[in-house]
Formats: sequence, C-alpha cells, structure tokens
Amino acid sequence: MGVRGAGGRVASRQFEALSFDTGAQFFTARSPDFRKQLEEWQASGVVQEWRGRHGRICTEDGTFELLSTSSSGGSGSRGGGGGGSSGFCGSLTGLPLYVGTPTNNALCQQMARQLQEQLGAAEVQSGCIVQSVTRTSGGCGGAGMQWQLRGSRQGRAAAGEPPQPADQQDLGSFDAVILADAMPLIPGSAGHVSGIDQLSTSLAQLARSAQAAAPQACFALMAAFHQPLPGVPFDSATMDPTTTTTTSRGSAAAFQWVACNSSKPGRPIADGGGGAPQCWVALTSPQRTQQLLERHPLMLDGKLVPQTDGYRRAVAAELLADFRALMQPLLQGPLPDPAYCHAQRWGRAFVAQPLGAEFLLLPAQRLALCGDVAAGSSVEAAWRSGRAAGQAVAAMLAASGPAAARAAA
Ligand SMILES: Cc1cc2nc3c(=O)[nH]c(=O)nc-3n(C[C@H](O)[C@H](O)[C@H](O)COP(=O)(O)OP(=O)(O)OC[C@H]3O[C@@H](n4cnc5c(N)ncnc54)[C@H](O)[C@@H]3O)c2cc1C
Repeated sequence: MGVRGAGGRVASRQFEALSFDTGAQFFTARSPDFRKQLEEWQASGVVQEWRGRHGRICTEDGTFELLSTSSSGGSGSRGGGGGGSSGFCGSLTGLPLYVGTPTNNALCQQMARQLQEQLGAAEVQSGCIVQSVTRTSGGCGGAGMQWQLRGSRQGRAAAGEPPQPADQQDLGSFDAVILADAMPLIPGSAGHVSGIDQLSTSLAQLARSAQAAAPQACFALMAAFHQPLPGVPFDSATMDPTTTTTTSRGSAAAFQWVACNSSKPGRPIADGGGGAPQCWVALTSPQRTQQLLERHPLMLDGKLVPQTDGYRRAVAAELLADFRALMQPLLQGPLPDPAYCHAQRWGRAFVAQPLGAEFLLLPAQRLALCGDVAAGSSVEAAWRSGRAAGQAVAAMLAASGPAAARAAA
C-alpha cells in the first residue's frame, strides 16, 4: 500500500547506489503460459536469470551447504510462509531463478506501461487506494449496475491515518471490479474497503473465505555495507522454517531467507573498488516474525499500527543483531557496521491456506477476486490468477453488451 506505483508485493527500494528487493526475491516458471511470458520479458531485457550460489544454512550448526540450481525441478512450495523442503519459495527446486532488472519492481512498472499502451485512451491509474464503494444501477448499456469507487489518488502515506470518508475523492464508476488482493475484504487491514462485505450475502461469504486464507506476516531487513562482506560462501541461503524453532545457536532461526541483493543481475556493482555498497536482504522466519509482532504489533485496539520511522528503526536494530549472529561465523573477518540499515513490515506477506481456485468470480456482482489469496503465494501463481480473472471478466462484460469497456482492478 502507500504511494508507490504498480507492483504490490513485487516491491523494490532503490535510491542512489542502493538497491533492495524487499518483497518477492525472485520467481520461478513452471507452466507453459508463464514460461512463454518469461521469454518475452527476457527478450525485452526486463528479466534475467539469477545465476547465483544458492544453498541452505543448517539451523543446527550454522554451516552452509551449497546446492546447485541447475538440476531438475522439484515440487516447490505454494503456501504457508515462504519456505519448505524446496527452500524459500522454491529456491532450491533446481529450477532457474529469475529476477526483474534493474529491480524486481521494474518488471511491474513495465507491465503497467504495456497495459497503458494496449488500452490507448483508457487510463491506467496506480498508487490509488480505494476506501469505500457504492453500487448504482446503470452501466453495460444501462442494463446492469456500476461500482462507484472512492478513496485517495495519492495512496495512503505509510505512517498516516486513512482519510475520513468526507475527504475521500471520487475515483470513478466502473462496470466491474477485480480485487487483486484480499485486503479490501478484511476489516482492519491497510486496504480494507468499508462496506463492501455488506453489499450482498455472496460478498459477505467471499469476505469470510478471504479471512480464512490465514495470511502470515514477515519482516524484511535491508542492510548495505561499504565493502563486500568477506568470504561469504553464498549469494542466497534459505533455512527451513519448520526446523528453526529451538536451535542451540538461535541465530539462524531468525530468518528464512538471506540474500546478497547486489549479486542479482542488473544491480549496481558492489566490488569494493569505489563502486556501490553491497546490499543484503533478510526475511524473518515465521517464529521470529511472531516474536517481533509481540513487541512491535501490527494491530492495536483493532487499528493498524503505522510503520513510522521509529517503528522501523526499532525493528531494524533487532534484525541487525540477528543478521550479525547468523553471518559472523560464516565470514572471514568481522562483520562491519552497515552504511545503511532499514526494516519493512509485510502485514500480509504469504497466504497459508489459499482458497485453492485460480480466481473467484461473482457474476451477479460483476466482481472477481484473484491473486495469491486464491492461487497460493508465488509470483507465477499470482500472474496466472490475475490473467485468468481478467479474461473471465472481459468475457462476462462482452456478453453483457458493447458499452462495458471500463473495469477497475
Ligand atoms: C517478503 C516477501 C518475499 C516473497 N518472495 C517471493 C519469492 O521469492 N518468489 C515468489 O514467487 N513469491 C514471493 N513472494 C510472494 C509473492 O510476492 C506474492 O505471492 C505475489 O506477489 C502476490 O501477488 P498478488 O498480485 O496476489 O498481490 P500483490 O502483489 O500484493 O498485489 C495486490 C495489490 O492490491 C493493492 N491493494 C490492496 N487493497 C487495495 C485497495 N483498497 N485499494 C487499492 N489497492 C489495493 C495492494 O496495494 C497491492 O498493490 C514474496 C512475498 C513477500 C511479502
């Protein structure tokens, strides 16, 4: 949420020579249709394979095992945190890992540009937050109903209070709505759309299903060092979250994924020779996330706790200590103090129990729900889900009449 553009959880933070992918770290491609899309992205230069040294840190003794990514693929993971025996988000399945260039989010920006080109006169708006909806008759040649959306075109400042209903702007009227996220249906979430679940019994049922998908939070640590960390034996390492509860060392349990973001293709080169700082990203394990949330809550008195600078600083200090404890035994020399250190909370990072459908469509409401809440936590699943929902809604509108051209997602 907030004032960023297209991208959602495929998010990056980039300024000057620092570059961090703070959400999705990479993606894999299994299905023929997504592989075809991947080839197009590669041809246009917005995606490259990340040929890094990928492996696993043993949570018992802190040693690292290098695992090739060039062997044949496995089954991967689709829900419940980002981890599993196949590594974080399937990083150790043997499938090639792909990243957007120069950042993961650049891929989403490119998709938004292409969509705008395809739509021509119609407007692609990003950075808006929808906060309330009403329905009126009309649309689709006058025979149907329309969704009227209200909210903010400037998004929601990360640390700010949501605007009061009277301050919300009119965002337009639309023949259909595609929810790309469960948040609009979930009271107290950053993207809750007030009243949507009270519009019909089928929407109330959809809201209950979305809440049952059991989202899991996660914190991301971003740290940059003037010199490359000495002797690190990997570019990315995963730890199985199911075995990270009570290790004697304790430190490895803090994270489920640690990666040198600078090792990804297209990022500023960090060779210690006056180039860019070396950038690292670490993502907390479910257990560590839970501990942190007890001290730095997500919700207080039914309201979302904003990620103020103070909130992020406090979390970053704790995570840096975890990072130091994890990395120090693997380094040939002391871990220097970072030149930059920051933290980000993902309140709804992964979906533990996706609804198990590619997408859901309520034709009578002219509303679809897609994304990982339906299809499971991965970039590929979210892409396929969004595309299928878009095609279904377009077909539904085409069948309703020629006037149905505007849809909001
Ligand atoms: C830290 C982290 C690491 C991950 N690592 C990987 C990985 O390495 N590989 C992998 O395949 N997957 C990874 N994932 C999972 C992957 O990122 C997600 O499964 C996928 O991006 C979900 O896409 P989506 O389209 O369903 O949702 P999103 O990308 O979250 O998109 C939903 C959008 O809806 C917007 N929205 C919600 N409510 C409103 C509203 N009221 N008004 C306006 N907009 C609204 C949100 O702001 C967001 O932009 C990771 C996720 C996280 C959080």
